[in-house]
Amino acid sequence: MNLILLGPPGAGKGTQASMLVQERDMIQLSTGDMLRAAKESGSEMGKIVADVMARGDLVTDEIVIGLIREKLEGDKKGGFIFDGFPRTLAQADALGALLAEKGETLDAVIELQVNDDVLVERILNRAKEAAAAGQPVRADDNEESLKIRLMEYYKKTSPLIGYYYAKGDLKSVDGLGEIDTVKADISAALDG
Ligand code: ADP
Repeated sequence: MNLILLGPPGAGKGTQASMLVQERDMIQLSTGDMLRAAKESGSEMGKIVADVMARGDLVTDEIVIGLIREKLEGDKKGGFIFDGFPRTLAQADALGALLAEKGETLDAVIELQVNDDVLVERILNRAKEAAAAGQPVRADDNEESLKIRLMEYYKKTSPLIGYYYAKGDLKSVDGLGEIDTVKADISAALDG
């Protein structure tokens, strides 16, 4: 089974993806994690994306599609979870084409629904907690970048909700509950 987790920053995509990895032996493909790893490694691509990410803007479709293309060559185990990808209609089309090339299907798109006040609060709390614990704080977990990330989401990513609804792939889940409740709702949506 291959699935997309769709939702604004702070909706809990990463948290739920890691639980699906454990429970269903799936492979999490988080473009955000891949881009942060590129930045940490100091590669040329990492240098190109660092400022864009810190501002809260999207990196180019070309870069993220390239990252995903590479990962689709690897082991798929129980299937791929696309986390933070696709984020634009061009990325969604590219993903469809890449999966088709490999004879794979997209089995579900789970939309995690949350309200914006919760998002901002969650992300700023995450940054505060990390700072208090002496852990690194993401360069884009501040109010200014967060505003841009949310705006990018609404302008460029939220149209994917309609896109996948029209394709018949969309399942919407309330992302506001406890982690385990959301997890159960996702399972029900996938297996039901
Ligand atoms: P969040 O969902 O919390 O905003 P991510 O870790 O998914 O965070 O992404 C962090 C940043 O990485 C984004 O703000 C963007 O700059 C970049 N990024 C991640 N995935 C993509 C993508 N699919 N397309 C373009 N940029 C991306």
